[in-house]
Amino acid sequence: MTSNESLSPYCSLKAGGTAEWFYRAFHADELAEVAIYAQQNGHTLTVIGGGSNLLPSDAGVPGIVAVNQSRGIWMSRTGEVIAETGVWFQELFLKTAQCGFGGLEYAVGIPGSVGGALVSNAGAYRSNISEHLVELEVVQDGERKWVSPDIMEFSYRDSILRSPTPPALVVLRIKIQLPARPQKEIFDEARDYQRQRIGKQPPPASAGSFFKNINDHELAQSLSNLPERLKSAGVVPAGYLLENAGMAGFRLGGAMLATRHANFMLNVGGATATEIRSLAKYARDRVFAQYGRDLEEEVLYLGDWSQFVPLVPEVN
Ligand SMILES: Cc1cc2nc3c(=O)[nH]c(=O)nc-3n(C[C@H](O)[C@H](O)[C@H](O)COP(=O)(O)OP(=O)(O)OC[C@H]3O[C@@H](n4cnc5c(N)ncnc54)[C@H](O)[C@@H]3O)c2cc1C
Repeated sequence: MTSNESLSPYCSLKAGGTAEWFYRAFHADELAEVAIYAQQNGHTLTVIGGGSNLLPSDAGVPGIVAVNQSRGIWMSRTGEVIAETGVWFQELFLKTAQCGFGGLEYAVGIPGSVGGALVSNAGAYRSNISEHLVELEVVQDGERKWVSPDIMEFSYRDSILRSPTPPALVVLRIKIQLPARPQKEIFDEARDYQRQRIGKQPPPASAGSFFKNINDHELAQSLSNLPERLKSAGVVPAGYLLENAGMAGFRLGGAMLATRHANFMLNVGGATATEIRSLAKYARDRVFAQYGRDLEEEVLYLGDWSQFVPLVPEVN
């Protein structure tokens, strides 16, 4: 374990301060060991997977930060798969698809680890990771055990580990059951999803969608230029609201909301975490003022934000 390690190389937004204590886990056993130690001794433990959905505070992250690089996958002939949570979600798709098991086609293009995907119930094209789970191996109350996925309380892009006061719960491995499917069908579907992403996917140094879309039939119906399919589903994309609130291309220091898709927060050059969060707050306020709806961050803020004072952009 080392101390005061900068976390910006470990998150896709390339910003933020240091970890008080820093550890790299290469196997589920190592992650279990540090989790048991932390939970039994009352230390805060934060696990980082790909860092594609988080922003560490400039003031740093107290306690232990463990980067999860456990990458083991075990597969049976019947489609039962056990994967360590440091496995890249896209790698899990590829490995299972190569053995003729489908179900994870939508994972193509979702960066990050299986662990991070669990925490935000990651998904795309009306599918998400929680659909395939059979069991989870966790460390909870200082004890390593297999539990039902119900422990995560999954909902749309959400789980109990995203709550403001999440329980001390570290996920080590997942067990999933996938259906057999002809490889051609699997890869044709995945290729189709990949094509749809091209042109929409943000450039590097972003965290994908910064805010969650809003499910609100009343709001969707009231928006005259919202596409009909979104109106009938009652889904209002956060990007639509941000664009209409004039936030596309808006910049604060090194932080910018993409011109092409206003829900993509970019670090266009040396942005601090404070600049990124300040821009997010400003954008949220603008949307609230225009639509009376509060956007909720999909990106998670890590560490000590108690001294955070939002910067206010200069608007001409
Ligand atoms: C270009 C781009 C496109 C994206 N597209 C999508 C998309 O289509 N759909 C989608 O859902 N998301 C998308 N995302 C967001 C992101 O990729 C997902 O949320 C991803 O699953 C996060 O995984 P991660 O390993 O990077 O998580 P991290 O950012 O490392 O961590 C996220 C949270 O999970 C916690 N955590 C991580 N591992 C564990 C563990 N083992 N046990 C307990 N807690 C853990 C962390 O502490 C943190 O709170 C996109 C992001 C980018 C940059």
